[in-house]
This record gives sequence, structure tokens and C-alpha cells, in this order.
Amino acid sequence: MNIHEYQAKQLFRDYGVAVAQGAVAKSAAEFDAALAQLPAGKIVVKSQIHAGGRGKGKFTNGFAGGVKIADNAAQAKELAGKMLGNILVTHQTGPAGRKVQTIYFTAASGIAKEYYLAVLLDRATSQPVIIASTEGGMDIEHVADHTPEKILRRYIDPAVGFSSHIGRDLGYQLGLGDEQVKQFGKLLEGVYKFFLEKDCAMVEINPLVVTPEGKVEALDAKVSFDDNALFRHPDIQALRDLNEEDPKEIEASKYNLNYIALDGNIACLVNGAGLAMATMDIIQYFGGKPANFLDVGGGANEEQVTAAFRIILSDPSVKGILVNIFGGIMKCDIIARGVIAAAKNVQLTVPLVVRLEGTNVQLGREILAQSGLAITAADSLSDAAKKIVAALK
Ligand code: ADP
Ligand code: MG
Repeated sequence: MNIHEYQAKQLFRDYGVAVAQGAVAKSAAEFDAALAQLPAGKIVVKSQIHAGGRGKGKFTNGFAGGVKIADNAAQAKELAGKMLGNILVTHQTGPAGRKVQTIYFTAASGIAKEYYLAVLLDRATSQPVIIASTEGGMDIEHVADHTPEKILRRYIDPAVGFSSHIGRDLGYQLGLGDEQVKQFGKLLEGVYKFFLEKDCAMVEINPLVVTPEGKVEALDAKVSFDDNALFRHPDIQALRDLNEEDPKEIEASKYNLNYIALDGNIACLVNGAGLAMATMDIIQYFGGKPANFLDVGGGANEEQVTAAFRIILSDPSVKGILVNIFGGIMKCDIIARGVIAAAKNVQLTVPLVVRLEGTNVQLGREILAQSGLAITAADSLSDAAKKIVAALK
């Protein structure tokens, strides 16, 4: 789960991480009250969406920049009016962009130098890793591609934990002076503690800055949490913003379906995450494009399969469906009945190819064949992929 910058900064404050004062507005009527909470001086107006690259983003109304610096409150109000309610497109949103429904006003900080700091989970070593760079404010993927030597990494052994020498060491490697190293160490300790205690998947501060007065401060904050640990954090769950999520994915989560929308036109319904990945791969291999990832789980019931069909078909770009089920714990005849019931229930209008394998597969295939529905049976993964790709041509 992702949260907004303003929410992440509130959490940062609880962990002693330095951030500028800010205030939120969710409608134009709230602009004045929010701006009144800020000190006089320059104000940064920040669109709140769950995507990065806002500063360089562009609104579909032609207005450029999802993060703007205003000289005063009146100008901030005017800029905010151009952002709120409009669609912001950044390199992370995709061409459809995201509607800005919240504005965050924050006191502008002077910037002497920008840095990059992140904590995330490194899957290869099964350890948290701290990533820092002197190349802040830039796209970190670009830095990694072009100047990988400018990216510093510190792996934290969870059995040993964080220790202050890591912060000092990293601070000096970033070229900070003694006083800034002290501040950086304290900030990093707070960020790391937050990462661990709240079961984050990633905490990213880009840029982390040193101000002309010598203060180390987080100007941006991007945080995502491990969904599997959210049950332990009702306070974090309360920060969920459904406006930022795909309605199909929200619906799927109600039925415990692992669904992720993609931009192709062949929907897949599969049991098991590995098989679902393989199904997407083979659709691509035969020239098609998957419309989604969907793992209905090992023990999916008829209700879940029906919900899955409904969600898949609510996507107007879906032009065909590939069902790929391996009947292990679940028997193929039960799956076949579920598919038929679901297909009848949702009034199927696109080609459906079904590949069943495993326990009671013969019975399952017979049930499908006798259903009277226009279902194309397939007897291998590649046969299924070829048939659905051909059906769309
Ligand atoms: P994004 O990463 O989505 O583009 P940021 O919050 O990083 O959004 O803002 C983009 C740029 O705007 C930053 O790299 C920084 O140069 C500037 N900026 C952001 N917040 C502030 C602030 N409080 N004071 C001064 N400049 C800021
Ligand atoms: Mg940023």
C-alpha cells in the first residue's frame, strides 16, 4: 500500500525526521485556512498523487509542473487552483495520469545541495538496504544506469540492526561536514526505525537536502508498506486513499483475489502466482498482451471465480479471456462448474479459452464441452495461448 507525501511526512515527524511545516487542502475552499497555518515567505504547492516525477509532470489542461514554488500565499492559492481537480501526467503515472484531489502546501526551503536516500528490502540478500547518493533530485534509475558508482549501499544485518556508525560512515562518504553528518545520522536512524516498525516495503527521500543554513531536511517522501503486514498496523490502514487505487483492484481485494490491472487486452484467470506469471509470459510469446495478472488462489470457490469474471469484464479493453487452471487441491470438475456458472452469470461476450489440467481433468473437460457455452478447450499452455491470440485476430 502506498500513501501520500503529506501522510509520510506526518509519520516522519513522529520519528524525529526533519521535514518542513505543511498544511493540506482537499478543496479550493480549504486553501485559505491551510495557507494561514504556514509562516510568511515562499511556499511550495505540491500535488498529492501516488506517483513520483510530479515536479516535471504536466497537467492535461496544459499547466506544467505538479510541484511549484510560489512567492507568497496569494500566488500559492492561484497555483493550487490550477492543479486541484486536474489530471497530472508524470513518467510514473502512465499516459492516463492521475487526478489531483489533495494539495499540500509547505514552507519552501533553501537548497544548498540535494541528496538521495532510501531504505528498502533487498530480496537477493534478504536484508534491508540503505541507498544513498549525492545525485539527489534526479531520477535514481537514471543515476544507476549512467553513474552507478555514485550510488552507495549499506546492507543491514537484521540480527545486528542499525548502529550509529552506519549513519556517520555514510554521511562522510556523501561528503557532508561534521555538523551535517550528525543531523544525517539522526535522520537516518529515525527513517530506519520507521521502516522496521511500520513494516515498510520502501521509504524514499528524494531529495534530502542541506539548506544554506546547514540544516538537513527531507523535502520529499515516498513510502510504501508491505500489504501482508498491514493487519498489524490499523493506523497505517487508516491512511489508505481509495481514490488512488484501481477500482478493479479494490473490488478484487474484497474477494481475496490477487489482481493487478495491466494494459493489454487478453484477460487471464489462473490459480497460483507462478502459473499466472507463466501464462502472461506465454501470451506475450505468441504475440498477445495480457490485460491483467490474476491469481485466484489454490482453493478458489464459485463465488470468487464469478467475481473474477465480473472484474475482468468490467475492463473495456478486454477482448478475450484465457482461463488456465491446474486442478491440484481443487478438482477440475469443480473448476469447470465454477467457470460455467460464472460465465452464465456475467453474460460472456468475448472469446473464452479454457485450459484445465490435473485431478479429474477428463470430467472437467466433458462438463465444459456439454455446457452449450462458446468455450474453446485447450490441452496445453501453449495451445491455450495460441488459441486466445488467434481468437482476437
Ligand atoms: P517529485 O519527486 O514528485 O517531482 P518533489 O517533492 O521531489 O516531487 O519536488 C520536486 C522538486 O521540487 C524537488 O526536487 C525540489 O527541487 C523542489 N522542492 C520540493 N519541495 C520543496 C521545498 N519544500 N522547498 C524547496 N524546494 C522544494
Ligand atoms: Mg522527489
